Amino acid sequence: MTTSTSTAPALKIIALGGLHEIGKNTWVFEYNDEIMLLDGGLSFPDNMMPGVNVVLPDMTYLRDNKHKIKGMIVTHGHEDHIGAISFHLKQFEIPVIYGPRLAMALLEDKLREAGVFNRTELRRVMPRDVVRVGSSFFVEFIRNTHSIADSFSIAINTPAGMVIHSGDFKIDHTPVDGEFFDLHRLAEHGEKGVMCLISDSTNAELPGTTPSERAVYPNLERYIMAAKGRVIITTFASSVHRVNMILDIADKQGRVVGVVGRSMLNVIAHARNLGYIKCRDDLFQPLQNLRHYRDDQILILTTGSQGESMSALTRMANCSHKQIEVRQGDTVILSANPIPGNTIPVVRTIDKLIALGANVIYGKDKGLHVSGHGSQEDHKMMLALVRPKFFFPAHGELRMLKQHAKMAENMGIPSENIVIAENGDVIEVCMNYMKVVDKVPSGVELVDSSRDGMVKGEVLRDRQQIAGDGIFTIAVSVGLDGKLSTTPDIQLSGVVLPMERSQIIASVAKAIDNSLANCWGNFARNVGSLEIDWIGLRGQLERDLTRVLRQQMQSKPMIVFLLQTPPNSTQSAPAPAAKPNALGITLRPGSVKVVAKPETDIATSANGNGNGNGVTAAVVANSNGTAAAAAAVNTAVTASAGRRKRTAATV
Ligand SMILES: [Zn+2]
Ligand SMILES: [Zn+2]
Repeated sequence: MTTSTSTAPALKIIALGGLHEIGKNTWVFEYNDEIMLLDGGLSFPDNMMPGVNVVLPDMTYLRDNKHKIKGMIVTHGHEDHIGAISFHLKQFEIPVIYGPRLAMALLEDKLREAGVFNRTELRRVMPRDVVRVGSSFFVEFIRNTHSIADSFSIAINTPAGMVIHSGDFKIDHTPVDGEFFDLHRLAEHGEKGVMCLISDSTNAELPGTTPSERAVYPNLERYIMAAKGRVIITTFASSVHRVNMILDIADKQGRVVGVVGRSMLNVIAHARNLGYIKCRDDLFQPLQNLRHYRDDQILILTTGSQGESMSALTRMANCSHKQIEVRQGDTVILSANPIPGNTIPVVRTIDKLIALGANVIYGKDKGLHVSGHGSQEDHKMMLALVRPKFFFPAHGELRMLKQHAKMAENMGIPSENIVIAENGDVIEVCMNYMKVVDKVPSGVELVDSSRDGMVKGEVLRDRQQIAGDGIFTIAVSVGLDGKLSTTPDIQLSGVVLPMERSQIIASVAKAIDNSLANCWGNFARNVGSLEIDWIGLRGQLERDLTRVLRQQMQSKPMIVFLLQTPPNSTQSAPAPAAKPNALGITLRPGSVKVVAKPETDIATSANGNGNGNGVTAAVVANSNGTAAAAAAVNTAVTASAGRRKRTAATV
């Protein structure tokens, strides 16, 4: 079926995510005027992203080229491969999405929840199915083995040549569900000739082969059998094979199973529906029924293997779970390793469970977890079977990509035929060459905890500043005589003062006095009546004050400056009754108003249109002098709300 010719134009391949990282895998295949997407994944925020729930790839290129998008291919149902699709569909159309049945079932739930289910067509595929996307892409689904069931490697036949995308894989010769890696099919494509292999690099640093998922079974069985009381066990909800084995062991040992956690319930329901998990209906018992059983007849399967703050296991450890109280005699088994970044919440959870009297079984030496990604010998097997002309290591951080490239080189692929690319690189590949030819926007788009707004770069910087040094709000009242009318009012949130509060107030008053003495004449003039450029004055005062405070504070809190002007200096409608704003500061009539909505409202005010509230200078500025501090106030409130709501999650 390979139709490559040397005269055909080159195929363009762009990864918008998934390179130099593990997460947000998003591939663009472009031929002539057609784009086929492969996977649309997300990643999760690091601790420099307060109030951010989800990290998406920069979708500028897709928004700009949405008319070219003909469809999407999904390799498997992990969040780092399907989690962003509902966000994509809010911005551009994807006419059809082809993918494995389990991934499509999970995706359907996500699309319904996001209210975008009717914006695309989900089509379920079976092993070796071939589908056409647009007129240029013929795509074959090749069964592979991974930690989630129903996972595929993909063969993409294009006029430029054949590309194999490994998907996430390990080579598991004894898969729990009996669905074997279709290595024959990969070899057949290799025999016919493959132009380019894109392959999972996650465990490229690990020598040897990744053990079969089945290797975990005897260890799980032993620890569950040894438990005298209840067993509480946690793993990734998406690890369908692991869940399947746990249910099997529970059944064999005469324990009923209570399932806790929405994602666990959801995945089990879909996987049972599709036959990837096989067990009796009456194995499961609602949590409230468990009290009818002896402790040694109970197994509780729960989410929370990564110490996620809102997960069921974390709540049990914190004694805040409504239905399950961990107690002396319980055995808690962690059948998952913490992914990098989650180690601290996981060990805290373990400590708390131990303090409650539980026997906690965890750690790499217990053999309770194996990776879903292949190690070096698995990678070599993939390279040997596919025998690509060009090699493109993917799904990994830089050191993993490099290591994978080295393996390919050792297996005879010349270094000039291997590309280590970055997100956003435009790779051109044809039978004659593969090279980076261009770059498209490739940063991140951050979804706010509220899930209905995006967090822009400047908002994130504001949040980091607030998180680091707090907010310093200063309200100053200036009279028509160009002098301070009252003592400045300051409010501090999260600010450490290097001196007495009264000293700071005195120094604010002095700075304003000095500034007014220097600049009042520049902003006030008498042309029959007094005209005052309150906006210009406010900016000047704010800049002068910020400079002084920066020197004195020895830290950089966000400074929010509010200027109150005399009531008779406004021409607008009467101001409403004074009431405290979100920061607890009462804005009196004529005061500078803190606008609740960011940028646009401020810009309106800054343009002198006013806001109908008797406000002369309706702008407060941040320390950079940009007209955005009202947004900062709003941000501060949002950020703190965000922190409350934020939940850690895992890929
Ligand atoms: Zn992945
Ligand atoms: Zn995966």
